Amino acid sequence: MKLKVASKILDANDRIAQDNRRIFSDAGVFVINLMSSPGAGKTSLLEKTIAGLKKSLDIGVIEGDITGTDDAERINRLGVPVVQINTGGACHLDANMINVVLPDLPLDELDLLVIENVGNLVCPAEFKVGEDVKIMILSIAEGHDKPLKYPLMFQESTALIINKIDLRPFLDVDVDKIRKDALSLNPSIKIFELSCKTGEGVDQWIAWLQTLNS
Ligand code: MG
Ligand code: ZN
Repeated sequence: MKLKVASKILDANDRIAQDNRRIFSDAGVFVINLMSSPGAGKTSLLEKTIAGLKKSLDIGVIEGDITGTDDAERINRLGVPVVQINTGGACHLDANMINVVLPDLPLDELDLLVIENVGNLVCPAEFKVGEDVKIMILSIAEGHDKPLKYPLMFQESTALIINKIDLRPFLDVDVDKIRKDALSLNPSIKIFELSCKTGEGVDQWIAWLQTLNS
């Protein structure tokens, strides 16, 4: 009898993502692919997270933006290793862009690497970069219709951070609907409500992150 081996044919991006993943696991670094639309608070969350975890974990960051170095400068001020990727127009990071900058990071010294993707609710969710988990942020100012309009990112994410909850009194937004729709798309998604501005809810997020990394 002849055994038929069915193997998934990986496209070029998936192959490089696997290479990255091997490099990360050999170095013992846990990797988060952080995604959101522009302005949801990725860099602000990173600043809060680094402040909360810096004593217990060695953290590194890759910043993805179409142009500019503002975000990398913000992270650099916190004294953690950071590399800025400018995609030059591309609206997401891919595995090869990450692969190219890995020599610029002290991976062996890191416990956690956060890859801040380009602000975009669509295609970042389609490209693996070698991460352990994808995590997304949605600010309540974006409205409660986003899970059902952009389902893939919610389906792909291990956790959803609902940010800017301090704005709730000023907005006609149904946060319970965001939760309900996100859970209908991804029943195991872990949801946090927080405000990077006031700091409310940030401790619970950081505590969960520590359990992921241990
Ligand atoms: Mg940013
Ligand atoms: Zn894209």
